Amino acid sequence: MTIYPIETGNFKLDGGAMFGVVPKSLWQRTNPADSNNMIEMSMRCMLIEDGDRLILIDNGMGDKQSDKFFGYYYLYGDDSLDSSLTKYGFHRDDVTDVFLTHLHFDHCGGSIEWNKDKTGYQPAFKNAKFWSNKAHWQWAIEPNGREKASFLKENILPIEESGQLNFISPTSKEHLKRSALDFGILFVDGHTEKQMLPHIQYKGKTIVFMADLLPTIGHIPLPYIMGYDTRPLLTLDEKEQFLNNAADNEYYLFLEHDAHNELCTVQHTEKGIRLKSTHTFNEIFN
Ligand SMILES: [Zn+2]
Repeated sequence: MTIYPIETGNFKLDGGAMFGVVPKSLWQRTNPADSNNMIEMSMRCMLIEDGDRLILIDNGMGDKQSDKFFGYYYLYGDDSLDSSLTKYGFHRDDVTDVFLTHLHFDHCGGSIEWNKDKTGYQPAFKNAKFWSNKAHWQWAIEPNGREKASFLKENILPIEESGQLNFISPTSKEHLKRSALDFGILFVDGHTEKQMLPHIQYKGKTIVFMADLLPTIGHIPLPYIMGYDTRPLLTLDEKEQFLNNAADNEYYLFLEHDAHNELCTVQHTEKGIRLKSTHTFNEIFN
């Protein structure tokens, strides 16, 4: 098995929204804001080559939204899903499975593209199974007023219409289950309903794809929770339990949204769980 980090591009989000009740004087130490109060975010996905399977975890924002929409997110950098796949000798048609941690647009927008004459939509991975779970899918297609702006119909409905949609069965939060994709999945409900976090055994270590349970290293202290989360107190509990596990078991945390750090580890301190180290992916796994 070989794992590749796949950069799909960077964007910016409001720093205050990214840190909820935490004051800027604190969060700007780890995540400095620009003159518009925006902080840097990556959309770092993961490609797993495992026998005859090529599994992509999340796929960024895609490119089908309007210039106006993208204007809100200050896209920057030269990376794209296609260029990152090409770098490792792959094409999107090679992907056999697209695993979606959740259906917010910055995680699943690359799933669907315009068709040739721009009259409709089609899957951007024509040979892949797409993986979500039933509870989250239902949550996303009938969105609440707070998440509505994150669940874009055009990212979601065409997956089902294509016949390429598959569901993973959720399990209790305490037990990681080996899924159809042969990695463990932790289900968490604080950010959104039934977000899925892959736990992957690789070269004798455990890598956890953090998605939006821990977007950046700035979010490690427990109350540093995004304003976007639907159930922040639940996130607090889920983070506490997860980060304690991560420190005890020396997990490598793969950060989807940290523009400057691909991987980190955490440790117990007198103040609670804190950052232990940051690494590039290649430093640890090549
Ligand atoms: Zn996100």
